[in-house]
Amino acid sequence: MKIHEYQGKAILKEYGVPVPRGIVARSPEEAEAAAKELGTDVVVVKAQIHAGGRGKGGGVKLAKSPTEAREIASQILGMQLVTHQTGPEGQEVRTLLIEEGLPIDKEFYLGITLDRVTGRNVFMASQAGGMDIEKVAEETPELILKETIDPAVGLRGFQARKLAFGLGIPNELIGQAAKFMLALYDAYEKTDASLVEINPFLLTKDGRLIALDAKINFDDN
Ligand code: ADP
Ligand code: MG
Repeated sequence: MKIHEYQGKAILKEYGVPVPRGIVARSPEEAEAAAKELGTDVVVVKAQIHAGGRGKGGGVKLAKSPTEAREIASQILGMQLVTHQTGPEGQEVRTLLIEEGLPIDKEFYLGITLDRVTGRNVFMASQAGGMDIEKVAEETPELILKETIDPAVGLRGFQARKLAFGLGIPNELIGQAAKFMLALYDAYEKTDASLVEINPFLLTKDGRLIALDAKINFDDN
């Protein structure tokens, strides 16, 4: 079962994973009100569909004022959004997430899933975030770092720090990054998820680490 980004972020927040401030909107008027309430110079209007690649498909747009947020919302709501993950027919957009616009320094990738070969969970991290991770896995698999998780003890602090160093995260933020990863693993495990993907895992210009996107899948049974 797939859930929307805004639902995934609500779960992550409960487990202490930092996410952007955001408000769900189902009409252009609600989008405008949400942008006003967020009060940031830039907000991001994000189509909520059960597929990734929304940015490239025109389903993630920046708005520089509440009026612009309303205009963008009226364009995106009701459209059949086509991305490389939806198939040619696309998916109808009924819901938007309006988020504070964050200053991007670097975009990384984080993912947790079950490795069927070893029967253990594996925590993946890559510097090649914000992009099509399937393509990275195919063409440059060495850019994806992996830590296998011992089910008896879960993700260990040293494993999280190793991944954070491997990503090239600045020294003063290694502790914050490790804490983020441990919270993310906690959310994955406690909710019985089959996949958690944070792409991008954002480093902001002011040194914060935030889940800018969230994909969480659950086993259908
Ligand atoms: P998708 O993976 O479906 O394309 P994302 O949520 O990853 O959607 O958004 C695509 C891109 O839009 C991100 O890689 C990031 O560069 C930008 N973006 C998304 N949300 C925000 C935000 N709150 N602030 C600033 N930029 C954002
Ligand atoms: Mg994404």
